[in-house]
Amino acid sequence: MKSIEKLIRPNMLNLKPYRSARDEFKGEASVYLDANENPFNLNTLNRYPDPLQKILKMKISEIKNISVDNIFIGNGSDEAIDLLFRIFCEPYQDNVIICPPTYGMYEVSANINAVEILNVPLNKDFQLDIDKILSVQNINTKLLFLCSPNNPTANNLENIAFLFKHFKGIMVIDEAYIDFSNQTSFIQQISKNPRVVVLQTLSKAWGLAGARVGLAFANPTIIEQFNRVKPPYNISLVNQQVTLEKLSKIDIYQNQVNEIVNQREWLSLQFLAFSWVKKIYPSQANFLFIEVENAYKIYDFLLNQGIIIRNRHTVMTNHLRITVGTTEENQKLIKTLKHF
Ligand SMILES: *Cc1c(COP(=O)(O)O)cnc(C)c1O
Repeated sequence: MKSIEKLIRPNMLNLKPYRSARDEFKGEASVYLDANENPFNLNTLNRYPDPLQKILKMKISEIKNISVDNIFIGNGSDEAIDLLFRIFCEPYQDNVIICPPTYGMYEVSANINAVEILNVPLNKDFQLDIDKILSVQNINTKLLFLCSPNNPTANNLENIAFLFKHFKGIMVIDEAYIDFSNQTSFIQQISKNPRVVVLQTLSKAWGLAGARVGLAFANPTIIEQFNRVKPPYNISLVNQQVTLEKLSKIDIYQNQVNEIVNQREWLSLQFLAFSWVKKIYPSQANFLFIEVENAYKIYDFLLNQGIIIRNRHTVMTNHLRITVGTTEENQKLIKTLKHF
């Protein structure tokens, strides 16, 4: 894929990746003396895991209806984000576009990788400023981060597809909250748009934040680069097994998502009744973004009652982000706030 290769760092194209013992030998054998493992199998963890997580990818392929060749699994989406910088962005030379207020890791990862950030803030409706994005991009612009539904503003971004034709770099669409949204995933668009990378995660709707499993869906040329750059055994055997088990229980996942969405709507209604709430933004995610009279006062009040929410005052004045919990947790939150 020439159009993609032009965007990849030359040292990555020339990289001779580490070849693990499990890359060199892929078949079945009765005696494994190739990887300096401990031969005593007391806990089933004495062997290195599959570096390409093939069985897990087959399951994800089935659920997401996309080819295994289009899937990368990272140690959380945060690993995928970092690898995107390492694949595409030359330190001290290239730049990326970020549309704040949005997820903080894009900026941190850019800074870690010494990559310049071009900020194009969302407009007052928290939508993309398309003209500005297209006018600030230059020959060194490699990545554009689009978070939809967006964290912390909770809305879907419109007009993403318009950029497919007009933005020249890699478009990274972060769909961490897609399971709670009425928006259609862009996963099925990657075959027609080789410069689109879709990120999803099992940390939110699938309830696996502790396992660290992030997914990137992209053109096979980009997936190949991910596989060349990543640490060989980036997903542990324990995490692969736990994830496989969880993914086999789709009905539990679906019921939980439905319940969270119902609870989100219930919580919104409850917040409407509080006089100190200035605005509740419509949410397509598993959290509410609200504007209040004094964010610190609410935050501290709840903290004292043992309830932790996210104070986003430093991102947007007097704004709070509140995750939707279980029915009991949400009722406790509202009951507590009635005493504020
Ligand atoms: C929570 C979140 C992620 C998930 O990150 P993981 O490393 O997969 O846990 C990614 N993007 C956004 C916008 C998020 O809010």
